[in-house]
Amino acid sequence: MAGYIPEDIVEKIKSDTDILDLIAEYVTLKKTGKDYTGLCPFHKEKTPSFIVVPDKGFYYCFGCGASGNAVNFIMRHENLDYPEALRFLAKRAGITIPEKVAFDQESHTTKLYKAVEFAESYFKKHLTNSAGYDYFKTRGVTTAAIEEFGLGYAPDSWDGLLKTIAKSKLTPEIFSEAGLLVRRENQTAGPNEYYDKFRNRVIFPIRNLSGRPIGFGGRVLSDQEGPKYLNSPETPIYHKGSVLFGLNHSKNFIRERNQAVIIEGYFDFISVYQAGIKNIVAVSGTGFTPNQANLLARFCERVVLLYDADAAGMRATFRAVEVLFNAGLEPLIVRLPEGMDPDKYVRVNGASALRSLIDGAVNYLDFVAQSLPDKFARLPISRQEKLIESLVQTAAGLDDDLKHELFIRKAIEIFDLPPAASAKFERPKKRRVNLEPPEAFGRIRFEGAFLGFLIANPNYINESFKVIQPEHFSEPAHMEIYKKLKEWSFQETNIGGFLDKFPDEDIRRKLTEIIVRESAGAPPEARFDEFASKFREFHISDQLSALRQEIARAEKEGQTEKLERLTRAYRDLQNTAKRKAG
Ligand SMILES: [Zn+2]
Repeated sequence: MAGYIPEDIVEKIKSDTDILDLIAEYVTLKKTGKDYTGLCPFHKEKTPSFIVVPDKGFYYCFGCGASGNAVNFIMRHENLDYPEALRFLAKRAGITIPEKVAFDQESHTTKLYKAVEFAESYFKKHLTNSAGYDYFKTRGVTTAAIEEFGLGYAPDSWDGLLKTIAKSKLTPEIFSEAGLLVRRENQTAGPNEYYDKFRNRVIFPIRNLSGRPIGFGGRVLSDQEGPKYLNSPETPIYHKGSVLFGLNHSKNFIRERNQAVIIEGYFDFISVYQAGIKNIVAVSGTGFTPNQANLLARFCERVVLLYDADAAGMRATFRAVEVLFNAGLEPLIVRLPEGMDPDKYVRVNGASALRSLIDGAVNYLDFVAQSLPDKFARLPISRQEKLIESLVQTAAGLDDDLKHELFIRKAIEIFDLPPAASAKFERPKKRRVNLEPPEAFGRIRFEGAFLGFLIANPNYINESFKVIQPEHFSEPAHMEIYKKLKEWSFQETNIGGFLDKFPDEDIRRKLTEIIVRESAGAPPEARFDEFASKFREFHISDQLSALRQEIARAEKEGQTEKLERLTRAYRDLQNTAKRKAG
């Protein structure tokens, strides 16, 4: 049960967790100087670029930028949220978290989770001896699978759940926000203000990565009535585009095989999973999204699309390919025999037949070639043009230059494209490069170095705030870090704790990078003076450029008096700068 963890317990968990011991359980570390290095657990590498700095309480990867303190490490490695990670570490350190918590102390989010959990046990309880249970049996779902996935049944009633929610001590509003009750229109208040969303359907709980239910999918028992599938709406805890059904069960199998198989529905998932092919996930109710692709990229590099063999499945396959390419994943495609879906295929041909289909999945280009009615050269010109156009578009989505190059070569080879076609694939040099003027780059580096200096020499923080203000920083993340430095007392705990001040992962990454790159050179006093004078220079040049703009405007508008005043101010400022520099 997640919930409120008292602040003193949080502190105890953090201070009792030795980051070196912790990470050493996952990564083989070698002592190098004061620090420890190893192969990064968050990206594939052959030479170690992952370091742990125990006396500062953080880790950092020079390769992929992964960084943080012990809690962040566990969050990322075990795919837990912050409170879950704290509980994980508490258990490891033998710290008991008092579970008695006053009800009103619970966060709104916790209440939503509880409502979904309450509904889950309601659905589960009503599965016994129900029409839903019989339906699962006719679909070949095993008792073990019913147990493992926590499947349930929503009775054929408008107020079955509604009548029981009093026991949960949660309000109907919470259940409604969690997508379990629906508010009646044209009714102001009263006991029948709400009705059950799921009625007479078998229920598939949709879970987050740590296995907590966050929503449901419900299927009718016979194909005649209403929409076949009904899913929970988007809620504060259920973001459809960021969840993959079953991933909490299959993530380790996916990691092991470095490959995920994507399937289209709940029944297909369960049927294939219980047949022993477990590195799978299901998309349901939505197309495959970039967020889902990024989620999978945490576990594997290759993704097999096992969609239904119909026109809709084909369209979904092509769309998913694009998304996978963009996430840096390698898409592979299985074509089921016409009219088949994975569930049917397993039932008819058995698990090993499906496994060999998956093992024989083809890459995107081969798949396109196989889908063509004829050899490329024999296609009508208009069809050829269309195909090249779509290949060019897919290639353009490949950010990695090497992958882009290999894709083109393969495309030319497979389709035996005419020489003129290859020119179409050439893309303009990436505009992203050099977008930042070198001067700005120098300044950002400089600001980072200064922050690193202050963190290593916190006794200069007070003095610094006398001469350098947060708005003197040009990089917003740096400004944020600088502001927080003022409130932070480094005597309290190590720098790993300072990282907790920044919920934004991007800022955390920048901060760790700053700390890692900080290297003492000259004595602190001399370094501080140098930093401070450089800051003044930057600040003055900011002011000068602002003045230049104002002068230009005054000139254009013919405001002579203002122009004179501004020009004088400009010259004064220039002189100040020269004096300071000299
Ligand atoms: Zn890394």
